Amino acid sequence: MRTLRYGSRGTDVMEVQALLAKIGYDPGPIDGIFGVKTQQAVVKFQRDNGLTPDGIIGPKTYSVLEPLLLGYDIYTIQPGDTLYQIALKYYTSINKLITANPNVNPMNLKIGQKIIVPYGIDVVDTNIDYTYETMQRDIKGLKARYPFLEVGSAGKSVLGRDLTYIKLGKGPNQVFYNGAHHSLEWITVPLLMKFIENFSKAYAEGTDIRGYNIRGIWDQSTIYIVPMVNPDGIDLVLNGLSPDNPYYEQLLQWNDTGLPFSQVWQANIKGVDLNHNYNALWEEYKKIAEDLGFGKPGPTKYPGAFAESEPESKAIADFTRNHNFRLVLAYHSQGQIIYWNFQNLAPPEAKRIGELFSQVSGYELAEEYGTASYSGYKDWFIQDYIRPGYTIEVGKGKNPLPISQFDTIYDDNEELLLLASIV
Ligand SMILES: [Zn+2]
Repeated sequence: MRTLRYGSRGTDVMEVQALLAKIGYDPGPIDGIFGVKTQQAVVKFQRDNGLTPDGIIGPKTYSVLEPLLLGYDIYTIQPGDTLYQIALKYYTSINKLITANPNVNPMNLKIGQKIIVPYGIDVVDTNIDYTYETMQRDIKGLKARYPFLEVGSAGKSVLGRDLTYIKLGKGPNQVFYNGAHHSLEWITVPLLMKFIENFSKAYAEGTDIRGYNIRGIWDQSTIYIVPMVNPDGIDLVLNGLSPDNPYYEQLLQWNDTGLPFSQVWQANIKGVDLNHNYNALWEEYKKIAEDLGFGKPGPTKYPGAFAESEPESKAIADFTRNHNFRLVLAYHSQGQIIYWNFQNLAPPEAKRIGELFSQVSGYELAEEYGTASYSGYKDWFIQDYIRPGYTIEVGKGKNPLPISQFDTIYDDNEELLLLASIV
């Protein structure tokens, strides 16, 4: 992490502000701008933690902040320790300790043994610009807290970032949810990440969510989630174009809109619209796209040189081929709409299930007409598998949606996400 101080700006500043607010400090608005209030909060945090109170986040202060960002610390058992005392000291609960350390016997703690201590706070922040780095740190934090989670990689992006998947459950009914094919639609990433956190917590504690028995779902179904299909594009819109980006010159040419990447860029880092890069009427779409001026790399709608030309879409298609998904959800923003069909190929139950999704979310159920529904992920899934596949457009407004819409979006979609795993 770079050194942060008064005047610094960026997604990393925002993340630290969100953390300080979460643990009881007042950094001012969580806006990614390191101003006077943030500086004062850092000074107070430093005083409380025996650090030099200079208001600058350098390596020493960061080393104290990092476990809090991850949501857990590693603790070495001392003579006379009990889980109860450790829980008190860290403002956490004995149950959280036991969940995170399934191989530790609470009655027989061994001196020198290292255990994971989850803090009492949640891991996934839903009030910040949600970057790839944030997601990876949150996944690490969740995996430490909930060691029953399976985490893996479905492939790599053009720039080598992992297309990380998280697996919930062990049942035979496999479903697949993915988010953020489109860069500006990154709000779908914290949506899926928060769902993973809440689902894991409920599974560990044996509680229900909205009347759904989570341990029952765990045994009946397996939910695979790739929260971020397009990490390179999201990095571009949230962190800006870095001079060491290997596509630096091309990207400046490809973005011929006169507007910043943060307002227009939906594609991957090679200017390919990943949700027009699947093999479902791809040739037809390509011709139409050329006529409409989308025949070359750009911010949106360019379908690439051939179907699955991009490592991201290829990885998602391969991941799908390597499993046996009964149903898929592809999360996008915006419109509060659920699309359920492709060329009338969807099976009869797809509309019935779509109506249930519409009921629990309040979103409109719709069919796409024209080229919007060519060469997308759900189009390809419906065409190749004749099983239920949905594009869900969350939220309302202009992309990127403000993160202030998050709570409404989560509330609209939580039951849908549960229902889709057992319907
Ligand atoms: Zn989209």
